[in-house]
Amino acid sequence: MTAPRPAHHVATDQFRNPWLGTAPARFAGLLRWGLQRLVRRSAAGPDRTVFPVVASAFRAPRARADTLAVTWIGHATALVQVAGRNLLTDPMFGERASPMPIFGPRRWVSPGVALDGLPPIDVVLLSHNHYDHFDVGSVRRLAARHPDADWFVPLRLGRAVRACGVERVTELDWWERASAGEFAVTATPAQHFSARGPFDRNRTLWCGFAVQAGDRRIFFAGDTGYHPEFRRIGETLGPFDLALLPVGAYEPRWFMRPVHMNPEEAVRAFADLGGDTHDTMMAAIHWGTFKLTDEPMDEPPARTRAAWRKARLRDDLLWIPRHGETRRV
Ligand code: ZN
Ligand code: ZN
Repeated sequence: MTAPRPAHHVATDQFRNPWLGTAPARFAGLLRWGLQRLVRRSAAGPDRTVFPVVASAFRAPRARADTLAVTWIGHATALVQVAGRNLLTDPMFGERASPMPIFGPRRWVSPGVALDGLPPIDVVLLSHNHYDHFDVGSVRRLAARHPDADWFVPLRLGRAVRACGVERVTELDWWERASAGEFAVTATPAQHFSARGPFDRNRTLWCGFAVQAGDRRIFFAGDTGYHPEFRRIGETLGPFDLALLPVGAYEPRWFMRPVHMNPEEAVRAFADLGGDTHDTMMAAIHWGTFKLTDEPMDEPPARTRAAWRKARLRDDLLWIPRHGETRRV
């Protein structure tokens, strides 16, 4: 007898968001958004020089075993030093988040740490296949420079990662757990979608990750809309010392709500995760690096701070990093 198919599996090679009313808008929505953008130019926000790149302060080659430190490289790319090892999230060091070299969202701010300046990488988490998260050039160069790294990816993404030269790849379904040395990595549900071209929509899974390393716990949300399972993630895999949550790429809401949280929802997700009762530090990421959507580039941090205050959360638990900045947790 075969096990019943999980709610987020459509077939063996197709996936969906299992929650009610969460289907992302499809082609007609993209067309409508495109037309709206033609009619009224989206708010560009400030000049890109308002986002400074600061000198990072990670320990090379590795930090002490009792240190937890995180460096924001930009967008969803972060270097986490934990349990004496180096972990990298969604490594995107490319110039454009696009399949084409001259079209598509261009980088606003250089990577806070150059790919060649990274310390030895032990573990890489890759949340899904969108171009602003899975950059083939970056993955190839990482595979060549850090051949011993263990990569964790959602179901069906392994092949594309191996094709870039990565040898140690583990595919995970939601709630599935695997280990690498002292790391235990669990893929977590996320409300999003996948595609690299017009014909491969939702053929590979998307996810977040919860990591346990030594006595530290970390949550990396990947890309996600607000969904009902953050509480279960916190209860099952927390309490977390650090939660990397996306706060950007949310306008217009009619189009983006199913797939990207806005700052208010990210703060709500933080509370659902149990962040406020467990002194979790929230690192607000996925903003300020690529202009993907309609909100002004500097709006996500301001709105995140406002939502944080409104929720009466402790000031020192919110970290809105500058590109390249390192923070000890
Ligand atoms: Zn995405
Ligand atoms: Zn993204």
